[in-house]
Amino acid sequence: MKYCSKCGEQIEDNAKFCPNCGSAQEGVVEVPQNQQQAKAADMKTIAKVFMVLGCILSAFYFLIPLCWTVPMTVCYFQNVKQHRPVSVTFKVCTLLFVSLIAGILMLCDKED
Ligand SMILES: [Zn+2]
Repeated sequence: MKYCSKCGEQIEDNAKFCPNCGSAQEGVVEVPQNQQQAKAADMKTIAKVFMVLGCILSAFYFLIPLCWTVPMTVCYFQNVKQHRPVSVTFKVCTLLFVSLIAGILMLCDKED
């Protein structure tokens, strides 16, 4: 048994409110606050994880142009310069990954 923090009435150990004066008991009130703090900490941890993932993804998006779109553009420039035909696969890849308009223009371009 414990005593009410406000009026001093003897109350049950797990009582949330004093049956005599109705005041909330501190020991019980602290638990939800701790849970809220724990939840906030969880949210912060999740936010941290997503921020790290965002950093990795942004690095990935930065690498795509270096490893994929820039070489494709250079390749197309060389092909045009040397009057070499560009494959349909290359055109479709350009359309999908580099530039929609450039890809459509390449596909519409009648080469012989
Ligand atoms: Zn009380």
